[in-house]
Amino acid sequence: MNRSHPRVLVLGGGFAGVGAAHKLEHADAEVVLVDRHDYHTFQPLLYQVATGLLETTAVGHSLRDLVERHDNAAVHQATVTAVDLDAREVHFDVLEPITYDYLVFGLGAQVTFFGTKGAAEHAFPMYTLPHAVHLKDHLLERWEAADHDPTLIEDGALNVVVVGGGPTGVETAGAVAELYRGDFTKDFPTITPEQARVILVEAGPELFSMFKPKLREYAANALAERTVEVKTGALVASVSPTRVTLKSGEELQAHTLVWGAGLQGNELVKDLGIELQRGDRIGVGADLTLPGHPDVFVVGDVAAITDTETQQVLPQLGSVALQSGEHAGETIARRIAGKKTKPFAYHDKGTMAMIGRGAAVVQMLGGRTMTGKKAQAAWGSVHLALLPTNEDRAKAVVDWAGSAFTHQRSGRITVGSE
Ligand SMILES: Cc1cc2nc3c(=O)[nH]c(=O)nc-3n(C[C@H](O)[C@H](O)[C@H](O)COP(=O)(O)OP(=O)(O)OC[C@H]3O[C@@H](n4cnc5c(N)ncnc54)[C@H](O)[C@@H]3O)c2cc1C
Repeated sequence: MNRSHPRVLVLGGGFAGVGAAHKLEHADAEVVLVDRHDYHTFQPLLYQVATGLLETTAVGHSLRDLVERHDNAAVHQATVTAVDLDAREVHFDVLEPITYDYLVFGLGAQVTFFGTKGAAEHAFPMYTLPHAVHLKDHLLERWEAADHDPTLIEDGALNVVVVGGGPTGVETAGAVAELYRGDFTKDFPTITPEQARVILVEAGPELFSMFKPKLREYAANALAERTVEVKTGALVASVSPTRVTLKSGEELQAHTLVWGAGLQGNELVKDLGIELQRGDRIGVGADLTLPGHPDVFVVGDVAAITDTETQQVLPQLGSVALQSGEHAGETIARRIAGKKTKPFAYHDKGTMAMIGRGAAVVQMLGGRTMTGKKAQAAWGSVHLALLPTNEDRAKAVVDWAGSAFTHQRSGRITVGSE
């Protein structure tokens, strides 16, 4: 290729892509970062936007801002439409094709509804910032509508069904219940808690299957304290704007179904002409490259990375995405500089999830566990470390501290177009 510096094309500005770009800051390379959004999304806190605890700018950060200090980097907002591995070229909707010397493929995962009838049209997924804002606006709209027309309450206007007993579903159900039983009780004093149910539905026999039994029990109690009704062994068969029907035939009156279950690799992976692993993820070697393509690194949620210690495929987590992206960036920088490289080794900071204010669970690699406020503090510090800038950390801390003192969610307003 006729360029003075090798070009590193980074696809995706999530934890993985941003991690790679940061490690390439001082590389003798031209770094091009492309994302369909002009911002980086901090997915672990989306549920806090959806329930009015955090503002959107604490969770979405300008990508240009993130690489502003990098003299060798450019950011483009465009959607990737195809990747031609043989031609070493990527195609976009609004950009001319870009060729690369090194490719970092970090396009993440996407929601799958497992073919559930009506879900694509009527469910509220929780994967992007627009999803979180859409859910918040919808919840607020339903409460205002019920305030105008109380007959809507009998029809289930305020009931929320959350699908998925993993961290996304549990965190969302807990946060919605706290919004309902906290702020909304004061905002709408004529509506009683029984008129606004939060129901968590999980297909498997229990919630939080990745945690030890005592943490599962803790989570079940914490949800019960927050009046979340839990239905395990229950599959959603179909969804309409006002009803959720379970496979058992039971019909739940609910105008909101939040989808916190099921991810699959970005749809583009199906056209790469390679064999995919479970969940449409791309299997990578110990250096995170695509087998047969030593200049193509696959990182983050879209990659199936086998942990060198446990021989298990690493979970789709922010820390895995950040560390794998950083490793790819570092490896490329070292290769350009003619230095030796190392295989990827994941540093596990524990598995953790929030259930609500003062209620969280943490399971460390060695088997140590934490619950309650201690676990919440550990969750806070791990997640603050993942936030891309100090400014974002400060914003999150201010919002969390504010809500801890006042128990108020100042983001519970709708700002639509007039
Ligand atoms: C609701 C929720 C809660 C979570 N909670 C936690 C948690 O508590 N702790 C934890 O560690 N992890 C959590 N995770 C998982 C964590 O957020 C992900 O593992 C992580 O974001 C993956 O990073 P990534 O860079 O691989 O992908 P992403 O963050 O998904 O980034 C992919 C990027 O690619 C872009 N993109 C996608 N397709 C295209 C295209 N065709 N063209 C251009 N750009 C495209 C997207 O806009 C996005 O910016 C949570 C995830 C969700 C959804």
